[in-house]
Amino acid sequence: MNLPTCYLCSSDLSTVVFNFLKPDRFEKIMRIGGQGFFREWRSCDSCGLLYTNRSYIENLNSGLYEKKYRDPKVQGENIESKAKRILNLPIIESDSAMRAERLKISVERVGKMFFNWRPTKRKVLDIGAGLNIFLAKFQDSNWVATAVEVDQEACNYSEKHLGIKTICGTYDSHLIDEEKFDLITLNRVIEHTDDPIHLISSCKSNLKDNGLLYIEAPDAVTALVNNAKNRETFCSPHYMLFDPLTLSMVVKKSGFYILEIQRVLEPSGGFSINVLCCKSTVINKF
Ligand SMILES: [Zn+2]
Repeated sequence: MNLPTCYLCSSDLSTVVFNFLKPDRFEKIMRIGGQGFFREWRSCDSCGLLYTNRSYIENLNSGLYEKKYRDPKVQGENIESKAKRILNLPIIESDSAMRAERLKISVERVGKMFFNWRPTKRKVLDIGAGLNIFLAKFQDSNWVATAVEVDQEACNYSEKHLGIKTICGTYDSHLIDEEKFDLITLNRVIEHTDDPIHLISSCKSNLKDNGLLYIEAPDAVTALVNNAKNRETFCSPHYMLFDPLTLSMVVKKSGFYILEIQRVLEPSGGFSINVLCCKSTVINKF
């Protein structure tokens, strides 16, 4: 077996953390499996990045998110009932609502500290918005929200029931020409790609020079908790998991500079890691 080298530091030394010999529900709906199937999580012995090595070479996620990812057979409920259920959770039980509250406070503080932000109407772009629960909780009289989501049904739900402008497609710098935002958010998105540096880098063209990029991902520390292997964190749509060091490396290689970093225990029980960043090119203008 040819072992992959680390995406971040190119080390070819790694240790197996978990090994799956049966396809999970996402692989099944993509008809991936059969004889010789395996998917293992490895930890880079050099930098600590957690990444997957798989028996199949195709990128699972090309074609998954347009429709199948949100299939009731995979999610256990349809888009409308899932959105309604989460929207009605008490705030302290909702990851999205808590994230919105937390981020508003952080963004105001960090924006004021580093860019002398004054109270004014601002624009936020959420990439990979899913059901748009986060923006529904985040938007208020101070924030004008735009979302990017690839699932057409999720886009329709968001526009019709939440009133959020939602662009249907896979984000890249050409999807939203010209428009610049004060805040771009990547909530639980970078772990779904095998090239997070490309994705994060592409955000630069839609972010104002005094704007902030928020990135949140499942925390690699999850691998150390009880029954970690059975957690959703290690499902097949995830390609990499980060800790403070490896997330810092990804952010730096993408042309951003971290202004704030946090580890959070979510209401749903999982650990997440998040950073607020600015473009590296503006650091010397503080
Ligand atoms: Zn590494």
